[in-house]
This record gives sequence, C-alpha cells and structure tokens, in this order.
Amino acid sequence: MQKHLINLLILFFSYTFCNAQVSNPTLDYYLPDDVTYDSAIPKPQDILGYVPGTWHVSHDLLLNYMEKMADASPRITIERRGLTFEGRPLVLLTITSPENHANISTIKKQHLALTDANAQSLNTDTMPIVTYQGMSIHGNEASGSNAGLLAVYYLAAAQGPKIDSILKNTVILFDPSFNPDGLQRFSYWANTNKNVSLTADPQDREYDEVWPGGRSNHYWFDLNRDWLPAQLPESQARIKTFHDWHPNILTDHHEMGSNSSFFFQPGIPSRTHPLTPKLNQELTAEIGTYHAKAFDKLGSFYYTEEDYDDFYYGKGSTFPDINGSIGILFEQASSRGHLQETDNGVLTFPFTVRNQFTAFLSTIEAAQAMRTKLLNYQRDFYSNSRNEIAKDAYIFGSKTDPARATLLAQLLERHQIEIYRAKEDYKSKDVEFTTATSYVVPKNQKHSRLLNAMFEKRTTFEDSLFYDISAWSFPLAFNLDFSDAAPTSITGTKVDSVKFEQPLTLARSEYAYLMPWGNYYAPKALNKILNKGIRAKVAMQPFTLAGKKYDYGTILIPVQGQSLNADNLNAFLDSAAKDSHLSIDAVKTGSTQGIDLGSRQFEALQPLKIALLVGEGISSLDAGEIWHLLDTRFDVSITKIDTRNLDRTDLSRYTTLIMPGSWGSSITEESSEKINTWVRNGGTLLGFKNSAKWLKRQGLIDFSTKDTENPAENVTFEQRRDFNGAQVIGGAIFEAKLDRSHPIAFGYDSKTINLFRDTTLFIEADATSYKNPIQYTEEPLVSGYISPINLEAIKETRPFVHQSAGRGDVLIFTDNTNFRAFWYGTNKLMMNALFFSKTM
Ligand SMILES: [Zn+2]
Repeated sequence: MQKHLINLLILFFSYTFCNAQVSNPTLDYYLPDDVTYDSAIPKPQDILGYVPGTWHVSHDLLLNYMEKMADASPRITIERRGLTFEGRPLVLLTITSPENHANISTIKKQHLALTDANAQSLNTDTMPIVTYQGMSIHGNEASGSNAGLLAVYYLAAAQGPKIDSILKNTVILFDPSFNPDGLQRFSYWANTNKNVSLTADPQDREYDEVWPGGRSNHYWFDLNRDWLPAQLPESQARIKTFHDWHPNILTDHHEMGSNSSFFFQPGIPSRTHPLTPKLNQELTAEIGTYHAKAFDKLGSFYYTEEDYDDFYYGKGSTFPDINGSIGILFEQASSRGHLQETDNGVLTFPFTVRNQFTAFLSTIEAAQAMRTKLLNYQRDFYSNSRNEIAKDAYIFGSKTDPARATLLAQLLERHQIEIYRAKEDYKSKDVEFTTATSYVVPKNQKHSRLLNAMFEKRTTFEDSLFYDISAWSFPLAFNLDFSDAAPTSITGTKVDSVKFEQPLTLARSEYAYLMPWGNYYAPKALNKILNKGIRAKVAMQPFTLAGKKYDYGTILIPVQGQSLNADNLNAFLDSAAKDSHLSIDAVKTGSTQGIDLGSRQFEALQPLKIALLVGEGISSLDAGEIWHLLDTRFDVSITKIDTRNLDRTDLSRYTTLIMPGSWGSSITEESSEKINTWVRNGGTLLGFKNSAKWLKRQGLIDFSTKDTENPAENVTFEQRRDFNGAQVIGGAIFEAKLDRSHPIAFGYDSKTINLFRDTTLFIEADATSYKNPIQYTEEPLVSGYISPINLEAIKETRPFVHQSAGRGDVLIFTDNTNFRAFWYGTNKLMMNALFFSKTM
C-alpha cells in the first residue's frame, strides 16, 4: 500500500515538475519546440483519436496514419513492397524535400553510383545522405512503432530553415513497422488488458503476454535474425530496399528489460565480426555522440559498449556493417504495457516513446553533421573491397538435388549477387560439379565482402561469448558440394532470374513410376501422393533399372491396384512432379539389377496425420520453424495442439506427434500417461533437443549422456558471467558421418553431413553400431565457437536416436534440423523421421 502511495507520488512529481514520465501525454510532451508546425498537416490524434502513447497503436491504424500523411504532405511518398503472411502491407515511406522527390530516381542512381567502380569522380559535397530507419522488428517492443507516428508528423509538419536543410540533405527511408503481424498481436494484448486507472504492478496481466507473444512474425520467427538468409517475406521486402538504395545509416529500434535504461551502439568491441572494418565501429561511436547529447538534454539515462554485439550479419544492426553502411541498434527499457514499476521508478509508455523519437531525431542530426564523411566511407568501402578480392570463383551444386542449389542461388539473388552457370563440368579434389546442377559466383563483384561473410568458415575467435550464433556458412547450411577456389574460366552464362528446372511431361506407364528421394521437394510430392490415397513404397536398397541407378529411398508407385486408373494416375503424378520441381520416371518392367520392384525390400508407406505440440513450455521458435517448413514448403497440413489442451485431446486422430524443443514442464501427469499409451499403440513421436530428456523420464526412450564438468578455477566474481557464457553453444556447425543405408539418411548422397547445433546435450553412441546412423566425427567442428571441454565431449556422440516403444516409435534429434528456415541441408532428416519411422 505504501509502495503504491510512493509510486503515485513519483508519478505526480514526474508529471508536474520534470515532465519526464507522463501517462496521458499531450503532443507537446514529445515535440521539439524549436520549430513551428504546419496546421494543415493532420496530427496523430486527428486520425487515431488519441495522442501517441495513450494506447498501443495497432498496425492497421499505424498504416492508416502513414497513408494519410503521404496524402497530406509533399515531403512523403509511400509504397507497398509486399505482404506479411497475414496479408498486412509492408510499407516504406520516402521522406525528403519536394524538390528531391521530383528528382528522386536521379538521386537514387547517383547515390548507388558511389558503390560502383570509378566512383572517385563523384562529388559527395552536394549529395544527400540516405538513412533507413525502422521500427519494432520485435512486435512487442512497440515504443519504436508508436514513436514512428511522431517521427512522421514531425518530418511532415515542422517548418523553418532547420527542417528545410534536413529534407534537402537527407533521403529518409522510413519503415514504421518491421513486423506488422507481431505488432498487431501485441497491441491487441496491451490494449485489451489496459486499466482505466493505470496499474504499474508488473504482475498485472497487461505485462504478461500469452504464448507465443508478439515478438515474432506469423510463423513465430525472430525477424531480426533473417537479414542475411532473407527467407521470410518481411525480410525480403526490406533487403530489396536496402540493396536498391544502399543507405548510409540503418537504425533498428528495440526494447529490452524494464529495469534498464537506453542502449545505443557500439556494442561490446571484442565481439565485432572481424570482416567489419575498424572505421565502421569508429563511425558508430561518433554517431553515438549525437545520441548522448540528445539524451543528456532530455535528462534520460543511457549506456553503450557494455552489451550486444556486431557479430552475426543476420541482425538488422549488423547486416549494414558488411555493406558499407553503419547499422545502429537502439534498445529502450520496456514498459511492456502502459505503466510499470521498475528499479528506476515508474516507467511510462510515453516516456519510452519519447526516447525512441529522440533517438530517431539524433540519428538524422548525426547524418547531417557526418554526411560527406559517411558518403565517402561508403565509397571507400566498395573501392577497397574491389582491391582486396581474389580472382577466382565460388562454385556450388548438387547432382542429386539441384533444387537445393537453386534455393541458395535464390538467396544470393535477393542480395543482388551475380550468379552464373558453369560453362563446363568441373572437378575440385574429388567433388564433381556438372553444368546442369551447379552455379558459379565470381568473387570479383560488387558484394564481394557480403559474399565472403555468407560463405566463409571460421573456428578461431577473439571472444568466446556471442549474442547470437557464431557460424552460418551457407554452403554448409544447404549441405551442397562447394569449392571456394574454382577458376573464373568456368564461368558460363549469367543467370538473370533464378528458376527451378521444370520437369518434362511425365510419360505414361502401365506398370510403375519411380521417384528419386534426393530432390529437396520429394517429401512434398510424396505427401500429395499418399494423401490422394495412392499406394507408394520406399526402396530399402539401391538398384539399377534401364541403365539408371536408383538410390536408397526411391519411391515406387505401382500402377495396378490404385484408386485412380492409369490415365488419371499419370496426370496426377505429372502435376505432383511439376508442383515439386522434380522428375518422376515411368518404367515398363519390374526386373532390375538389385531388388526387383516386387521385392519385400520395398516397404509400404502410410499417409501422415501430424500433430505439433505448441504452447506454454514449448520453444515457439522451434515450433514455428517446424510449422513453417511443413505448411509452406511441403504443403503438409498439421494440427497445432496447445499443451494446455492436451488433457482433453484425442490423440488417436494422429499418426505422428512432434514435440519441438521444450522443457516438458507444462505437460500434466495425465497427458504424459496419454502420450505414453498412444505411442505404445503404434504412434510415432518425434522429439527435439531437450524434449529428449522429458521422453527419457517418461520411459519412452533410453540413452546415456556425456556430462561435461568444468569447475571454475581461478575465476573471479566479476568473470563469472563470461566463464559460464563460454560453455554455451550459441550455434555452431558440426560434421557427422551418415550411414546411407539407414532410412534416416535416405536422399543424401554423401557419407557426411553438416549439422547445426545449439544445445550441450551429448548422447553416447550405442554399442550396436547400426544404431548410430548419424554420428559426429572425431574432429567434428566445421565452423563456429565451442569450448574445448564441449568439443571433447561432442566427439563421436550421436545427434539422433530411434527406439521402438511397444508398437510405436520414438525418435529424437539433439540438433535443430530446421534452423531459422535456412538450414535446408538437414530438413530431409526430419522428413525421413516422419515418413520412414516404421521402416527403421
Ligand atoms: Zn528486440
């Protein structure tokens, strides 16, 4: 009670005297008073019905305001660059003087020319600088998007020489919401739980979002990890803007824990990626002086250099650093809802909005003062990179899975990287690349540094702590044949638009069809076939027919005894093949070299009915990756079952239950019992990461783990966090051996595979060797950071276990086979676990 009184007093004093913390703000609370404002421009409250900070703006209102402002102001244009998964427009505002608008395509062309050869003759003194400022990529870090209302009002309505000069010298690319679906989800939560008499009590429902929260996008991805892989529509829109414009500064407005203050970069210096030029961090620090000055003036606290880092280029504030720009991360202590008690007193939502707006303006101020410096830096970045590059080329491909190579080529295309076909077949060491299934990427091109950052491997580091993953090498993530030292003489024709090879029309057969399993999209076709009620079998051994070799896992579709007649079956398979960018072969005989088509070595397959466990206790990131993969890549319709409903769920409807990374804590005893019975009656349960431990406790699977002991010797209290952090595998790449004859490995043409791992769960190999179809090698580290003790522990352990339980099957992966939608190389391991569990 007393605490409440004190809080009320604090609130009263703050509001009355220092104007720092208000909960019912007026526009004056936010706006600089050194300019006048054009009364013809609609104020935010004219369109929203309230002053920003009073409510959490929903995405539709935000969009409405932005479109009205573009109508009202000759300084603003707005474009739609695509749609989110939920159909919300991904907009971009271009804000500059009307004179610049009249000339915008020339300004853009001249700005881009800075990154081209012969840019030295361009006069940067007269060029506008380009900033790209984006808000709330984590939807529940909403002060950024709400500040966006003020930012746009200010830039549209402010009058006088100062604003005229800003608009003349700057092209501001503004994205009011990097994550529309997440923002919408969060605003709903914060507003529907708001009290009229605001409650600062952190235990109120307003501050405790329901799973999975508004941080992520529709499929629960962290959009601030996708700038480099660019797999999601939101990223693809903004990456296009980035490469179309090459902004000089890119800002990314976030929120952090409520007890903090305000953070701006630079981050921790020792954790900057070594490919980022030193000057980048110096310029980042210089930009920081403008933020510091603005926050000092405002009376807001802040800090810098102690947190966060610039290592993983998939983050919005780091991606620009490998592209000649300066990326800046802002982190504001979060009020989460509208008002919250914190270590620093009562934190109001409007206060957080005002800080974000202040950082938005101090960025523009820095851009004015450092305009030619940053333009010249960008020019030098590209001319230096042209001087340092090697004269050879990258080549990548896959003879058995050209689709996977095409998917990587598409990724490169999004980054405007030049891609070519190979002119002739090429052999590097013992790897063969064919013209039809390979892509050549010469190093000598504009984005050479970006390319290097995408393709390099790294196992030594200055620091042992990482804010995010320590490795992401794309040829490893896609598990492709790869060489980084091919001669440019093999460069063939330029690929202007990357497309999947379309198969020829399927010949008609009266006997059978064969579908190789190597193609990335083969599971999509198989799912379609089985769902149609068509009988299909999988080959447990390789064979040769009509001179063609068929590998383990080939899918056999007989013509006889199907519900479709021969013509309709042919037409259906033809469309399934075309849909999945793969070839199916029509065959006339069952006589082969090896297993004949009537052999019992072809095992019958059943259609899948998959349930995916989601909700409290389950990692939403892991669950979302699985949902996205099955739903959008393989067209597998799944049922998402919330852990809180498990007690009353009828599991008998499903063949398969997937348990993403979880702690198992939210599953009741009753549900555990139910899952156990369902498995023993024939269900297939696939668990990931720490779910393995829960499954072991339930007696559904058994394995022994290798424990790593690392006593803290000579570690001081101050060093404890770094010491413990160094034992974490934040995300690194490891090599494992594959037993190609095991169904888990079907579709892979190599005896080794690269796995992405971010856990320290090490499972001992089984004494029965064929129970270790995937096993880490003796020297497994390929790229990324792992502590010496963990590296010793992981050697020759196994990331995959399959065991029968009653009539059912339990399978576990300790690694993430679907990491962030770009780890294409291991998706098939999961699909094999789903389709072939009964053949193991
Ligand atoms: Zn964030």
